[in-house]
Amino acid sequence: MHTVTLRGFEEPFVVGKILCVGRNYAEHAKEMKSEIPREPVIFLKPSTAIVQDGGTVVIPAISRDVHHEVELTVLVGKGGKNIPRETALGHVAGYGIGLDMTLRDVQAEAKKKSLPWTMAKGFDASAPVSEFVSASGVGDPHALDIQLDVNGSVRQRSNTRFFIFRIDELISFISRTISLECGDVLFTGTPEGVGQVVTGDKLNARLTAADGSLLTSLTVSVI
Ligand code: MG
Repeated sequence: MHTVTLRGFEEPFVVGKILCVGRNYAEHAKEMKSEIPREPVIFLKPSTAIVQDGGTVVIPAISRDVHHEVELTVLVGKGGKNIPRETALGHVAGYGIGLDMTLRDVQAEAKKKSLPWTMAKGFDASAPVSEFVSASGVGDPHALDIQLDVNGSVRQRSNTRFFIFRIDELISFISRTISLECGDVLFTGTPEGVGQVVTGDKLNARLTAADGSLLTSLTVSVI
């Protein structure tokens, strides 16, 4: 059983599905030489991919090129189907910061053959997540700074105002086809600046409010 924590709640949340958005920042789509999508590209990771703050990412033997993708993460608190945009944010329990770790070489090979990305995106420890902070304490989730440092140097830095698809739109879009349940986690896509990590790297990701206050952070080691 894999769980995540929401600050202020004693009971952890058992993780259900991990839903990820493929391209949600125009600058990242550009660096991947991909088109800006007209509707969200969604893929899944298994719950076994979860790693909590302070954990480790083991590079799988099938890859020589593991990339970091820092992303705002959303914890679903209330499930639903066909959720309208207008009420979608009411289904969010909390926000956090996460890393959509990606085997870029394995993904590139899959893309070439038009095959699924499951192994490239869903391997053990491919979804490190911070402690979540309550949605009610975050304010506007589309005005948050996200940042990733590797060994103390900034690698990715952006703001959720640059989303192509906003969180309410993503929840509404996904729930038309896949029911959401309490404990599901949504990775909202990465900004530009993705790059390789190697054994020994220390990754520190941070989610910062519009007023500059740190909301939550995540540190993991690559081994
Ligand atoms: Mg991603």
